[in-house]
Amino acid sequence: MKKELIFLGPPACGKGTQTDKLAKYFGFPHIDTGSLLRAEIASGSENGKVAKQYIDKGLLVPVWLVGAIIKSRLSQEDCKNGFILDGFPRSLEQAEILEQIKKDIDGDNQVDFRATYFEVDTEKLITRIVNRRSCPKCGEIYNLKTKPPKTEGKCDICGVELTQRKDDNEETAKARFDTYFNETSPLIDCYKNKNVLASIDADGTIDEVWERLLKVVE
Ligand code: AMP
Repeated sequence: MKKELIFLGPPACGKGTQTDKLAKYFGFPHIDTGSLLRAEIASGSENGKVAKQYIDKGLLVPVWLVGAIIKSRLSQEDCKNGFILDGFPRSLEQAEILEQIKKDIDGDNQVDFRATYFEVDTEKLITRIVNRRSCPKCGEIYNLKTKPPKTEGKCDICGVELTQRKDDNEETAKARFDTYFNETSPLIDCYKNKNVLASIDADGTIDEVWERLLKVVE
């Protein structure tokens, strides 16, 4: 049966790292709205210009824009056996849009739809965000404190200079947490009520969290 997996959790809870790994494990595409929006900005498109104004402030990009990106991506051939959706939906309104997109794409076919909530102590996350660096070429994520690159400032895999996301500064990070608590966290109850939510303890090493994740998605 087609597997449709979505993930909830505050910024920098580790779901990017885990969902990327999970996508490779299942052989499904890893669809991460943050990265899709950053690619849109890098392309210089009009939509990218709109998205940038919101991302730089730690706010949600308007639903018409992100909904259109997701609909077009989920309709592609590589999603027909399943997908890993990371960062969408992020509000109750987006959850309704996802329902509609799923109806359009899946019709009456039965699918295995599950939401996983990464539960983590949010106090630690601002530090995690300001220490986060990533490789602009392969996307590998590092943390200066907990997962530093072998050579300072360089990707272990590609050797290129690591970069810091513009919104990974303390001020924007705080705004992103406010957005998360106000708009995204109501989804936890929404999916709990639909009986499709599993929560995992996301505090721990990458391997520990991975083991917990596999138990709820396999
Ligand atoms: P992320 O890479 O998931 O931390 O997302 C970075 C930023 O992209 C967020 O702070 C939002 O501004 C924007 N963004 C990502 N996903 C969405 C979404 N589903 N809806 C609206 N904005 C989003």
